[in-house]
Amino acid sequence: MMAVASPQLAFRSIVHVDMDAFFASVEELDHPELRGQPIVVGADPRAGRVRSVVSSANYVARRYGVRAAQPVTMAWRLCPNAVFLPPRFARYSEVSDAVMEVLSGFSERTVRLSIDEAVLDCSNAGKKFGTWKSLGRAIKDAIKKEIGLSCTIGIATGKTLAKMACELHKPDGLTLVPPGQEKAFLAPLPVEAIPGVGPRAREILQRIGIHKIADLQQANLDLLVAHLGKPALELWQLACGIDNSEVIAHFERKSYGEECTYDKDLSQLEEVAQALKDLAEQLEYRLAEDNVSGRTVTLKVRFADFRTITRAQTVPVPIRTAPFLEEAAWRIFRLHVSDSQLREDRIRLLGIQLSNLYRMRKGEQLWLF
Ligand SMILES: [Mg+2]
Repeated sequence: MMAVASPQLAFRSIVHVDMDAFFASVEELDHPELRGQPIVVGADPRAGRVRSVVSSANYVARRYGVRAAQPVTMAWRLCPNAVFLPPRFARYSEVSDAVMEVLSGFSERTVRLSIDEAVLDCSNAGKKFGTWKSLGRAIKDAIKKEIGLSCTIGIATGKTLAKMACELHKPDGLTLVPPGQEKAFLAPLPVEAIPGVGPRAREILQRIGIHKIADLQQANLDLLVAHLGKPALELWQLACGIDNSEVIAHFERKSYGEECTYDKDLSQLEEVAQALKDLAEQLEYRLAEDNVSGRTVTLKVRFADFRTITRAQTVPVPIRTAPFLEEAAWRIFRLHVSDSQLREDRIRLLGIQLSNLYRMRKGEQLWLF
């Protein structure tokens, strides 16, 4: 008998998550006594900080017309009762990390797009939840339960479509673009609903009679290219519901390294030991900041005549603290650079790099180390 693939396997499930009024919501979370009041994150105009702009406003303040990027003086005029709170970016970034942790439980392919937005490829997880609706609900519930905040979600077969769906119903929304209905979903939207279509592109499109995405779907492709250039092709494809870009964390680092060129060439073992200790400490700082550990240590040695060697060693368990990094680098050094070579060739640069990385979740401890 022939196996029939579940229809759910045939299409991609891309989830776009946008935290609702993020900074203002974090403030509400941390100051429950302010709940229900209009909250504006931004410098207090009553304190004379009149040149600042609004970073974020909760939905109560938005009802008065307060918006992000507005001058705080205007926000004050629109909503004299608003509570103005100075932004606490370190706190928002901490909550953003916690949200990412919850999201990565739903998919290995979770990419942070900004402090309050992420995209997940849930093509596999989708199966477990049966329907997109229950997948979306599960993600929203998890964020509400774990973090205490609400978010808006869009789910579609592509990244851009999912983001556009997300934009449609805020806050606390869940909008689905079922596979096969992309074109119909897009048709009634104005062209500027497409991310990347700014005022200039909109103006050009309007001049050739294109206002809605439906117009774009029926447009003459040659005419589009003539007016917009090559990007027109992608725009037209997207308008027709074709959105195949992958969810990949392009910016994810593969390694962390520190190196230093010395004013005076090194020729003594004690100098090298001290130099490696310093480099290991600098490296530890950056690894701790990003909560990353790794198993492969690479030592780079450049001699006075610019001859350069790089030698690596892989340790059995992930490391990230300075003493272990220093120890590994020292071991590699002793193995590959003899005492006489150090004295005669002298060293102008040393570097330590850690790769084979492990990204740890919040609260997760390194086994043993
Ligand atoms: Mg947001």
